[in-house]
Amino acid sequence: MPTQCAECAALLQELVAAMSADSERQRESWIASGRNLLDLRNQMLAAIANDGPREMSEAHSPRTFEVKRKMAEHEAQTGHSVFKFR
Ligand SMILES: [Zn+2]
Repeated sequence: MPTQCAECAALLQELVAAMSADSERQRESWIASGRNLLDLRNQMLAAIANDGPREMSEAHSPRTFEVKRKMAEHEAQTGHSVFKFR
């Protein structure tokens, strides 16, 4: 069972908030394609959990990119797995 702490949980919440802000532009095209926002969020979470920060570039999602960087830092320092649900 992966280790987690309060900071892991906080980082996850921060990530979701950042993705909500960064996905504002992506939202319209996603809805236009007939899918819902929960699917979008899940897909983005899955993409990040599967080490997809290269697809999610800094220019594309600056806030998400920053949070992901903090996550990697925290994981490197503590050995925690922020994405415990994976
Ligand atoms: Zn932690």
